[in-house]
Amino acid sequence: MDDPFLRETALYKTRRDVLRLNVGFLLKENVGYSRRMDFEAPLLEVADDLNLANFRGAANFTRTPQGVYVQGRFSGEHPAECVRCLTEFPQVLTADIKQLYDYPPDPSSEHVIAETGFLDLAPLMRELMLLSAPMRALCRPDCKGLCPNCGQDWNEGPCNCEKEEINPRFAVLKKLLDK
Ligand SMILES: [Zn+2]
Ligand SMILES: [Zn+2]
Repeated sequence: MDDPFLRETALYKTRRDVLRLNVGFLLKENVGYSRRMDFEAPLLEVADDLNLANFRGAANFTRTPQGVYVQGRFSGEHPAECVRCLTEFPQVLTADIKQLYDYPPDPSSEHVIAETGFLDLAPLMRELMLLSAPMRALCRPDCKGLCPNCGQDWNEGPCNCEKEEINPRFAVLKKLLDK
């Protein structure tokens, strides 16, 4: 069966066209008609400034009188540096999309389906993914951080300056950085 929807959503595309969907067939359906779609890409370019690894998610696309309502959850990994131990790790970002895309396209609306029937999830995906990133990235909630004195990664074990006096200036600095 040649299903245009599934053809559009072929898995493992690596470019942002994973998020650029032809929903023309949906626009021909009656109000209330809904289709679920699964997404998966080992590496996805969401925008020039955002690449995600292990991108996955699912969304329902529902025909409404105004266009198509998209409701879905997505996640992907983005490299981040832990504020405590300075290790780079894959930070999981998420996007909860609940958005109406207008059709016919309303020039005053940010979220529209093009006359050609294409709906581009990338701009909203980028915005929500970046918003979900914590201000202070932690490689794990209980990361022990680095010794402010010798730089030893305390996640890998204690250092020898445990009993020694830690330079108070560094201690204050570390406190500030940990805020
Ligand atoms: Zn860490
Ligand atoms: Zn130390």
